Amino acid sequence: MSILSSLSAIHTFVGGIHPPDEKQWAADSPIEVLPLPGEVRISLLQHLGVVCEPTVKAREEVRMGDIIGRSDAFVTAPVHASISGTVQRETVATLPNGRHVPVIPIKAAAEQELRGTLLLGEMFGGSWPIGDTERCDPRDIVQAARDAGLVGLGGAAFPTHVKLVRNEKFPVDTVIMNGCECEPYLTADYRVMLEYPEPVIAGTLLSQRAVGAERAVVCIEDNKPQAIESLRKAAEGTAVEVLVLKTKYPQGGERQLVAAATGRIVPGGGLPFQVGVVVVNVATAAALARSVFRGKPLTHRVVTVTGAGIRNPKNVLTPLGTTYGELIRYCGGVTKDAARVVAGGPMMGFTLSAADEASELIPTPVTKGTSGITVLSQRDVARAAETACVRCGRCVDVCPMRLVPTRLAMAARAQSREVLEHYHVGACIECGCCAFTCPASIPLVQLIRVGKVMLQKKR
Ligand code: SF4
Ligand code: SF4
Repeated sequence: MSILSSLSAIHTFVGGIHPPDEKQWAADSPIEVLPLPGEVRISLLQHLGVVCEPTVKAREEVRMGDIIGRSDAFVTAPVHASISGTVQRETVATLPNGRHVPVIPIKAAAEQELRGTLLLGEMFGGSWPIGDTERCDPRDIVQAARDAGLVGLGGAAFPTHVKLVRNEKFPVDTVIMNGCECEPYLTADYRVMLEYPEPVIAGTLLSQRAVGAERAVVCIEDNKPQAIESLRKAAEGTAVEVLVLKTKYPQGGERQLVAAATGRIVPGGGLPFQVGVVVVNVATAAALARSVFRGKPLTHRVVTVTGAGIRNPKNVLTPLGTTYGELIRYCGGVTKDAARVVAGGPMMGFTLSAADEASELIPTPVTKGTSGITVLSQRDVARAAETACVRCGRCVDVCPMRLVPTRLAMAARAQSREVLEHYHVGACIECGCCAFTCPASIPLVQLIRVGKVMLQKKR
């Protein structure tokens, strides 16, 4: 490990691209609190792992923070009421990835314990006992993460307690807080780091304490100088290092981040803990601090609503289960030339629908992994017609996983299971670098996604 750690001066990874970052739409908008929605639709699956079973019934009264779904499985995360109100009959929603999931609707009560700036202050504000983290029992930190239903808020939604539990076979010496937010357009993590760096640093120290790591690093790209300054100030006097990385997409991918920050290579199909590293998103770190020090579960998250197709781009503190339509309406609706609504950012996100006046009715619920809603304009989505592959090799050069995207795409078109497996389609992280760079406008990543599904179905 010590030799490898000397490579940390690299601070970047092999491959990748530099798409326009488009952060200007919402980067300067301070976090606002969404006015209370009339109803929320809370998914019982908001994480990687086992779907929760409902613990409430229709017509029951619940308060914000009450558990409404749980499972005894290890890889799962309980879900909590994000507002106070009356439980409605369970129904089904379709998530952006096409999965149908059970949801529990809650009709809002007139009285809520916390609203507006009070809620924002309780969530991120005030003082954080940063010096007390050393006194916390590691098992209590893991339990707090589990009870609070914490998952990776960067989008992956992997249950946080699973990452933080100590594993004697794979000791962890480094915790990395992922503040890269490399996906174009998205600025939710940026605003949390800029406005509320203290809970991020507190959560970093708690993560370090939980896994017993020697090194704690907050990684952030060099295109966020104000947030870097804010974090450095909050980390003064602590052992937390703020490491500035080169701006490059997908710098925030776990494997790319580990390589850039430590020089270690996560084995193919493996996870960072296998090379002694745990990666936690910065907003998750803030939520961990809140669960440990304030005993509060994950009920809200900051969502960036952005793009040329949205009238008033914003970063909005949103109760989980709020519909995309409600958020779009709060941000002034879509513009005349809006063309497409994307869940997340344009590189790794999922297209939801065409953008029109019906966008304010989109029923998709915000989940723990909803980092943003991007509304693209006609100009953004116009692309040249697809032509034949000219064998330029650009897709290969930029692939951060060192795959051969053109081969994978051809294999998906030819429905060749053997070739897909031979060229390791499962290792693709669907970052979209290949499709972005292809001069022939071949929808490489979409074809690769089709290839992956094809393999899963044949198993
Ligand atoms: S093949 Fe997969 S991992 Fe490689 S650039 Fe394309 S989408 Fe990214
Ligand atoms: S970038 Fe496009 S044109 Fe070039 S080799 Fe890859 S698939 Fe072919």
